Amino acid sequence: MLKIKMLAPATIEKIAAGEVIVRPASVVKELAENAIDAGSDRIRVDIEQGGKRSIRIRDNGEGIRYNEVKLAFARHATSKLSQIEDLNHLETLGFRGEALASVAAISRVTIRTISKSEELGSETTFEGGHCTAQRVLPYDKGTDICVRDLFYNVPARQKHMMKDKTEERVIHQVMGRIALSHPEIAFDFISDGRKIFSTPGDGRLQSVIECLYGRSFFKSLKKLDAKNEPMELQGYIGDLTSMRSSKDRQILFINGRTVENRGLSRAFEEAYQGYLMNHKHPVGIIFMTLPGRMLDVNMHPSKMEIGILNQSLVDILFRQEIRRAVQQMDLTVDLSEKI
Ligand code: ADP
Ligand code: MG
Repeated sequence: MLKIKMLAPATIEKIAAGEVIVRPASVVKELAENAIDAGSDRIRVDIEQGGKRSIRIRDNGEGIRYNEVKLAFARHATSKLSQIEDLNHLETLGFRGEALASVAAISRVTIRTISKSEELGSETTFEGGHCTAQRVLPYDKGTDICVRDLFYNVPARQKHMMKDKTEERVIHQVMGRIALSHPEIAFDFISDGRKIFSTPGDGRLQSVIECLYGRSFFKSLKKLDAKNEPMELQGYIGDLTSMRSSKDRQILFINGRTVENRGLSRAFEEAYQGYLMNHKHPVGIIFMTLPGRMLDVNMHPSKMEIGILNQSLVDILFRQEIRRAVQQMDLTVDLSEKI
């Protein structure tokens, strides 16, 4: 008997899915990004029990044609990329064609959608990656996708999920970032029937920040607008009054994508050196633009990590520009008042 065997397709599918979808928040991120890529200007996200019971996303985007719905759920099926060179000038958040396949492999999915080019819509259901039914359905606009019982067929992962409140908090964070990077889209985020936030979709970043964190928080921010070839920076950074005990409001986007990047995160804190209070972290909602050829967005299936060519140079430029902005701020606050 051979010691080495091929894995069964269903096992391969679950392993691959586990790289893209690690918790309910990953489903929300992937599906919301799809809704954005579909050109929606209104997106509503409803979750139940921290997303463990259900995640439902409704958009008013371009929809999917009846005879392409099943294809959309096949692994490596995408309308967004056709050759590797396209990665250098992507205009969409998705490109791997893996999200829908991954989500469907480990949950129960119902999708209703109507393509802008068709008269009738459709409703299709999937369970553990298999299509269980499809029918034609009158439907008014966009796509409504509902994901139930996440990880029902992957017990180890199911056990791994946190309390409802914790998963809800992570989804809240993900939704906040998505809303910040798309002020032109009106987002509604609802958890167990309770509205968590709504953004107006008026195209102003200020409106989104106020909806998420309140007006007084916004008042403590300073506008950032800097250029240092090949990098551009836009957004807001905080003064001493807005410092926080966690880094939860240090939010960085590179070319419109929300990313985690250790080098830049460290550079941001360093820029405040001399102004920082003990155990406090500065806040910043920063949009960085770099030429596409300097980035590798395909570092990880989740697309949260981003590879930067000449990372250390970019770190230095970033620190310089933030430092300059910090020094221009009115930091003559009487510290004794704040402590
Ligand atoms: P990717 O986003 O990387 O292309 P996905 O698996 O997330 O891969 O989606 C597969 C395809 O399904 C997309 O390329 C798109 O054509 C279509 N699609 C997914 N979600 C939506 C949506 N909400 N509205 C319209 N089309 C969608
Ligand atoms: Mg996608």
